[in-house]
Amino acid sequence: MDYRKEIVKYAKLMCEKGYSVATDGNLSVLMDDGNILITPSGFRKGEVTEDSLVVISKNGEKIEGKYEPSMEKWMHIFIYEVREDVKAIVHAHPPYATAFSLQMPREYEPVLPEIKMFIGKFGFVAFKEPGTLELANLVKEKAPNYNVLILQKHGIVTYGKSLFDAFNNLERLEFEIKIRALKNLFKFQH
Ligand code: 13P
Ligand code: ZN
Repeated sequence: MDYRKEIVKYAKLMCEKGYSVATDGNLSVLMDDGNILITPSGFRKGEVTEDSLVVISKNGEKIEGKYEPSMEKWMHIFIYEVREDVKAIVHAHPPYATAFSLQMPREYEPVLPEIKMFIGKFGFVAFKEPGTLELANLVKEKAPNYNVLILQKHGIVTYGKSLFDAFNNLERLEFEIKIRALKNLFKFQH
């Protein structure tokens, strides 16, 4: 699939599913020439078009595009740098996982088997202001050991060998935390 079409498709889905509100979240793909196609900063991501996307180099320079790249571009660049298997990244603010990020447990034991099957352990990243190099550097430290990262008081970052995989990781992570939150509704008496 055409990378531009794919980013537009998953950006819409991210917003339709309520995984990002207002202008939150960003998506990128590592292209075959080594440059990165990323969403523009400050847009409602459900409204991005193929021609509003931005091409940046791995040094962070803008190569092509009418708008400025995502303020989280260094987070994306550093993940591609430390994970050669990763070709696509999604950053979102899904409500259950974001609420969970306020707690920041050291370890997390999932309730659903799919998490162990498809994702593995969750990585936790201590709070740094969104869009800063400090946040990107903490993400860089954790990315080699985890396939999903939970950013304290902020949201999540998921990645994979395609946007299909990165987005599935986002959905599975959010579903896991939602089920964990909802399970207390059903305390049946025996
Ligand atoms: P951008 O619109 O610059 O991608 O920022 C959104 C965001 O979620 C920052 O953390
Ligand atoms: Zn964010």
